[in-house]
Amino acid sequence: MKKSSLFVALCCVVTVVMLTQCVCGEKKPSPAQTVSARGIISDRNGLVLVSNDTSYVYDSARAVIIRNYPNPVAAQLLGYVEYATPADLADDNSYVEGDIIGKAGIERYYDRWLRGKDGMPGKNLTLTIDYELQKLGEDLMEGKIGSIVAIEPSSGEVLCMVSSPTYNPQLLVGHREKANKRTLLQDSLKPLLNRSIMGQYSPGGVFKAAQGLVYLSVSIISSQTQYPCERGFTHDGLSIGCHGHPTPLTLVDALRTSCNGYFCRAHLDMMNHKKFRTVQDALEKWRDDITSLGLGNHLGIDLPHEKRGLIPNADFYDKAYRDQWSGLTILSNAIGQGEILCTPLQLANLSATIANRGHYYSPHVVKEIQEESINKKYKLQRLTQVSRDAYDVVIHGMRQSVLFGTCRTLSRLPIEVCGVSGMASYKEYNHSVFIGFAPVEDPKIAIAVYVENGGWGAKYAAPIGGYILEKYLNGELSETSKEKVKQIKEQHIGYEK
Ligand SMILES: [Zn+2]
Repeated sequence: MKKSSLFVALCCVVTVVMLTQCVCGEKKPSPAQTVSARGIISDRNGLVLVSNDTSYVYDSARAVIIRNYPNPVAAQLLGYVEYATPADLADDNSYVEGDIIGKAGIERYYDRWLRGKDGMPGKNLTLTIDYELQKLGEDLMEGKIGSIVAIEPSSGEVLCMVSSPTYNPQLLVGHREKANKRTLLQDSLKPLLNRSIMGQYSPGGVFKAAQGLVYLSVSIISSQTQYPCERGFTHDGLSIGCHGHPTPLTLVDALRTSCNGYFCRAHLDMMNHKKFRTVQDALEKWRDDITSLGLGNHLGIDLPHEKRGLIPNADFYDKAYRDQWSGLTILSNAIGQGEILCTPLQLANLSATIANRGHYYSPHVVKEIQEESINKKYKLQRLTQVSRDAYDVVIHGMRQSVLFGTCRTLSRLPIEVCGVSGMASYKEYNHSVFIGFAPVEDPKIAIAVYVENGGWGAKYAAPIGGYILEKYLNGELSETSKEKVKQIKEQHIGYEK
């Protein structure tokens, strides 16, 4: 532990006698007790993000410890603390009346470690988060709804987790805590929600990378297979549009151009393939392989309330369509629409899995717990069911997309970036989505960007992803990039309240 952190931790052990009223102003009977300082939380480079403030005085007589945010970022990720309620006391018998406990985010998940006991301070945590990357991500997402998640593929460490809109974590301490929390809860844009793990979105075009892996791995297609696309796919009154590009085309070209027609035809070929007895069998095989990529289930991140997304199984469609369905019925799945839902964390993990050519480590946000080890599950390599050859083809397509296709805004970077961008349409909204990683060999960072109502992937998500990659890999943004970041920060998307 750094000397300064130790000093802060030790200074924070204060005894509070006859604490009769909580920091948020609620009456609470409390016996004389010893309050222990909570552990300090730092970023991956040791920069303190959350410390303790012992100087806070509720009134002239009472001192309490409150949280302090010297570098206020990642509010939803960090969470906040409050006095334990009667319900908390009933839920967990390790709590006693007057305890200050974690209510959300890391404060909640790691409460057992952070919370001190009997006057002893809690354990300090070092996060996997890079403060500067997180700050840049929050700047880029200003005035936009959505998320950025970046992961180190070789470890599963989450480098940044941006959920927008966000709030200043300092709002949830001190005299104004209760009133501020009410305002945040009433905000229709839901700033308290961690969209990175709780937002379940149509992945849209970026899902094509996962589809390509499965079609190749199951030998529905080879890298040489060509399908035509005449501005989309039309069959029996069903029509899914596409933009103009050369036809017929291979998977690499389909990833480069983000072609809808290609994936519709390949998906239909899989659902109707003679190697499967029924469409149900085909769907189950598809689902097995897709879920092996970490989609459709909890990834097990060390944060509360992670959502699982949705990769439907045959039973789901049997119930929805009373057994009367075919490959055509579920064709929107081909292009990451229809019923498919993913969290931004899952999309970043998909990107990390592709970067690793077939495995991932469960993403996590705590790198070190003072004097203790992190959960062993975060060291386990999780293998996918997709063949190694399939990864090589899809990575080639993602590289072509950056050099000559829908992600070519990233070809400006002096790093070899792979990416796929797309648009996910929901009702009248078009969401801008990007996944990517870099460098192509020995990848250091994988990323997902989701901007609600942001239009084409190339409009917001891909450029935003590019600045995060540039910052992380180069250490600094170029002067031109700094200027562009300022412009993106000032571009606010209008959302209905
Ligand atoms: Zn097309």
